[in-house]
Amino acid sequence: MAIDTPLRKLFDYLPPAGTDLESLQVGTRLRVPFGRQTVLGILTEVANHSEVPANKLRCALEILDTEPVLDAACFELVRWAAQYYHHPIGEAFAAALPTLLRQGRPLTATELRWGLSDSGRTESLATPRLGKRQIELLAILRSAATVGADAISPLGSGGHAALRGFIERGWVLESTIDASDISNPYNEISPSPTLNAAQSLAVDEICESLNQFQPFLLYGVTGSGKTEVYLQAIAKVLARGDQALVLVPEIALTPQAIARFRQRFTVPLAVLHSAMTDLERLKMWRAARNGSAPLIIGTRSAIFVPLARPGIIIVDEEHDGSYKQQEGFRYSARDLAILRAQRSGIPVVLGSATPALESLHAANMSRYKKLVLPQRAGAAVQPHISIIDLKLHESRQGIATPSVLAIERHLQAGGQVLIYLNRRGFAPALYCTGCGWTAPCPQCDARLTLHLKSHELTCHHCGARQAVPYACPACATELKPMGQGTERVEDTLDELFKGVPVVRIDRDTITNRDEIEAALDRVHTGDARILVGTQMLTKGHDFPNVTLVVILNADQGLFGTDFRASERLAQNIVQVAGRAGRASRPGEVLVQTACPEHPLLVSLLQSGYEGFAETALLERSNAGWPPYSRLALLRADAPQKDSVMAFLSAACAEAQRLPLRDLRLLGPAPAAMERRAGRYRAQLLLEGPDRGALHQLLREWLPLIETLKEARKIRWSVDVDPLETS
Ligand code: ADP
Ligand code: ZN
Ligand code: ZN
Repeated sequence: MAIDTPLRKLFDYLPPAGTDLESLQVGTRLRVPFGRQTVLGILTEVANHSEVPANKLRCALEILDTEPVLDAACFELVRWAAQYYHHPIGEAFAAALPTLLRQGRPLTATELRWGLSDSGRTESLATPRLGKRQIELLAILRSAATVGADAISPLGSGGHAALRGFIERGWVLESTIDASDISNPYNEISPSPTLNAAQSLAVDEICESLNQFQPFLLYGVTGSGKTEVYLQAIAKVLARGDQALVLVPEIALTPQAIARFRQRFTVPLAVLHSAMTDLERLKMWRAARNGSAPLIIGTRSAIFVPLARPGIIIVDEEHDGSYKQQEGFRYSARDLAILRAQRSGIPVVLGSATPALESLHAANMSRYKKLVLPQRAGAAVQPHISIIDLKLHESRQGIATPSVLAIERHLQAGGQVLIYLNRRGFAPALYCTGCGWTAPCPQCDARLTLHLKSHELTCHHCGARQAVPYACPACATELKPMGQGTERVEDTLDELFKGVPVVRIDRDTITNRDEIEAALDRVHTGDARILVGTQMLTKGHDFPNVTLVVILNADQGLFGTDFRASERLAQNIVQVAGRAGRASRPGEVLVQTACPEHPLLVSLLQSGYEGFAETALLERSNAGWPPYSRLALLRADAPQKDSVMAFLSAACAEAQRLPLRDLRLLGPAPAAMERRAGRYRAQLLLEGPDRGALHQLLREWLPLIETLKEARKIRWSVDVDPLETS
């Protein structure tokens, strides 16, 4: 049995009293005693022996399901993922199942139905002296083969009493049906555009593989009509009666994005994201599982949703970091999508304008079939990108003079302007003009960010908040904000362009889906002329009237400590730039930087993401980073620095006693931000060219780590294929 605990093992039980082994089914839920509690577990194996001594084996209490909760492919996916990510299997199953199922809700929604029996039909006609309610009830029952509670409830308690009476007389038969189906309230379908040549080719290629496993990398510049390709491929899948699973990044799943799918298909659509109630989630999950929802759109965890008739999996914006779970069960939904498609024998499409280097590499090695959309769809053309050297131009609160002039020009021409800065708040630091003191976070190795609107200093790493001091606590001199955040840029724009409406989109102004929807509405109606925002703005939103994009500070990330920093920066720049000129008006992009000669920026501007990727892959190959090697990261943290280092050193020593083959251990080393939220953080990186060897070592190593006495004082985790290594 897999049980939701941090223990890396399965648990053995005897079958519930009176149940024989043959009637047990793998994948069903069982209620079992666990310590002093009773819990639900998933049956993973039926065996007629156990290593546990017979007198220690306890009986399971109850079987909850008559069929497995996860289909075979899904079940294997979870088992495989638990092994691959070296995560406790019970927790992996818990992550894959809706909360309510874990709490014991029935697998399927059921509904009682009532229908007249043959004798009921004839005898009721021959029976005089029926009551008023009985006559009304008979009329309802005659109207259909069976009716549900909603049809009978208007008759009130009298109706129910009459129904009971009919059931006793044998006039009415009671039955239970599956009520997991969902329906689609929308029926207005908008026509699909005629595909251009590249799009048609992509759709054809995908549709040729509908019966078999084939991964595709749909590499299309921003605005090239990737979504259109998904939609038409999905249409083919649905026409065959199969299901399509579409994964999208967390932030992209706005009602707008869902509407685009609803407008194309009349079929029920199951939507799964983190901001829904447990009950809604269960409903959607059931509809995917029983096949009544042919189209399923969801964020990361939707990769575990069972499908009755899998037809295709699509991973939109496959480079997005939100596909990798960053805590607990650290799986990558994108990578699991490939595996799932393979197990199900169906195509999987990874789409992006800025594919992850791993995905590009896989396509270069012909493991994925590359489908390229080199041009924007319709009339739109790629925007023109130029650099603004911050060393050569004056700037006002971070906005250089040429940018100010360009903003003015585009506003006057009736366009909208997008200003991107990946830093929220007013200023990233508050410093003393006398002694140079800057306000530190008491819990982290970080500065506090000044938020003027809420009038506080906050830490973006641990959430600590403080009142803004009036003067320097060290020398009592006046304090000044240093640098810019989106809040300050908004103020500056208000001053520079008086009366021009500005909308700011970042985590301070947008805290829920309604707010993002309202803000996007202001952009789409043209009510807002200038948009200021963080990464939140870059995730796939379509702003047809934005003609100018200004990237205020491209330098953040140029000198990052993580080997993926440059990849992320390039993706960010290209994605932000891609918001410009998506409709008929040409777009312009300005990239402000203090290092215009940086090779990354040069290759990006001269030869686009393609050119950048080539350079970056070469660098990775020389340095032996993924995709040319495999990584696993052992992280540890604790309030005391010594105990963290003692643990990692002990873990390192254990690994060195095992056959390392050509694996390398890097560290232990402190994390880039050594102290966060009052805890010291450090890590040990395991690197090697061969996936098999790495996993073999992890399998032998982790049980040893678990039993280290140094492990008791700290928190540790293992991250396979980590996104961040610093
Ligand atoms: P992507 O997903 O690659 O960013 P979209 O699918 O959102 O691109 O397409 C960008 C815009 O171009 C959308 O407004 C879409 O309706 C439009 N579009 C896509 N394909 C075509 C086409 N073949 N003809 C005309 N317009 C198209
Ligand atoms: Zn001071
Ligand atoms: Zn902090």
